[in-house]
Amino acid sequence: MSKIIPYKTYLGEDEVPKFWYNMRADMKKKPAPLIVPATGKPCTAEDLEPVFCKELVRQELDNDTAQFEIPREIRDFYRMFRPSPLVRAYFLEKALGTPAKIYYKFEGNNTSGSHKLNSAVAQAYYAKAQGLKGVTTETGAGQWGTALSMACSFFGLDCKVFMVKCSYEQKPFRREVMRTYGAEVTPSPSMTTEVGKLINAEHPGTTGSLGCAISEAVETAVKNPGYRYVLGSVLNQVLLHQSIIGLEAHAAFEKLGEYPDVIIGCAGGGSNLGGLIAPFMGEKLRGERDCRIVAVEPASCPSFTRGAYAYDYCDTGRICPLAKMYTIGADYIPSPSHSGGLRFHGMSSTLSELYDQKLMEAVSVKQTDVFAAAVQFARVEGILPAPESSHAIRAAIDEALKCKAEGREETILFGLTGTGYFDLIAYQAFNDGRMEDCEPTDEDIRISLEKLPKVKE
Ligand SMILES: *Cc1c(COP(=O)(O)O)cnc(C)c1O
Repeated sequence: MSKIIPYKTYLGEDEVPKFWYNMRADMKKKPAPLIVPATGKPCTAEDLEPVFCKELVRQELDNDTAQFEIPREIRDFYRMFRPSPLVRAYFLEKALGTPAKIYYKFEGNNTSGSHKLNSAVAQAYYAKAQGLKGVTTETGAGQWGTALSMACSFFGLDCKVFMVKCSYEQKPFRREVMRTYGAEVTPSPSMTTEVGKLINAEHPGTTGSLGCAISEAVETAVKNPGYRYVLGSVLNQVLLHQSIIGLEAHAAFEKLGEYPDVIIGCAGGGSNLGGLIAPFMGEKLRGERDCRIVAVEPASCPSFTRGAYAYDYCDTGRICPLAKMYTIGADYIPSPSHSGGLRFHGMSSTLSELYDQKLMEAVSVKQTDVFAAAVQFARVEGILPAPESSHAIRAAIDEALKCKAEGREETILFGLTGTGYFDLIAYQAFNDGRMEDCEPTDEDIRISLEKLPKVKE
């Protein structure tokens, strides 16, 4: 267990964090390490440095240091849009008639429209500091690609984005924002990489998946001198950067003289939730305070609620290290009618370990219920939420209604990770009554999990 450093000291006088908090430092049982597929051995810095920036590798592998100082350039950038607001949803409470207090931490108040910018700026900064020419990445719904494009243009780095083909076609404006910030955007699977050609040959006409796009981005980074790959979720380093969400929320609750009874967040790869809960989970791990923590995932991509806790590939092309995580299998592709984001087949290994230790819970929700919650929220609170964020809204509303039924007061905090202005095709389907729910059968999941790699632990 690390030396306890008061969270107050993590923030500057301007209430913008000066340090990131690494909750792994307070975990007795650490998350399982990444593994090199060829040798079955834990990844070392030397294994990872050809793919990732050096400083980010150091952050990735450090399970013991609680506090990481945020470089001045990154902090200056954060100051443009941080601290982000912690808002009490008075109108939603009133509409629901609940005795619960509902708070949300809003991360959509920057041009990229989501929390992803918190990590994008850090990753771009370290790439620049290392003297690199550029970075490659994948993007699904487009928020990560947008955030990274902004961060790269700020630091003068080249940015190559592989965008999942169905999103590339469904979200032309997202693509155009990225290009406006100078990024090169390629639909994935493409014919510009070996792995893309292979996937196209095996699955003609495929609309792509995050797993494919990751493989293409990694291959491109490794083949081009002066490039590294960056990832917007799942990894420990990303959860570390996102800890500023939780640190600010923790400080705001302290000012209010309150503490959440339950924290709710949507979970794709786990970065916003991992960041939001970080200081609260730290208190839980150190036995200082307790609150419930709930991850919300789509019923169409249910890694926590229906997956296995096992080593799996992070990408379809199987060129990345293996991670131990809750997964529904690297080849799993959610139904094309799924439009709520959160499509990654696995989950952060840190959150997976915490979930396995029963330090957090998980629920899955159907997309029509998610959009119903999004519309309800938009009409009373004003903000048009991202579909991803609306998973958390759904669960927060359900929790508040439960409080009402049981006549119970409770303080609920949920992460409102972003805005949904680029998701209006999905809103349109919902508003027209054309949106369908899609869930994998047990057989679909069983077949997908049969292909998990065999790893001796
Ligand atoms: C990417 C994204 C998510 C999901 O990713 P996590 O890593 O699980 O946080 C949630 N909300 C928004 C708005 C996103 O852009």
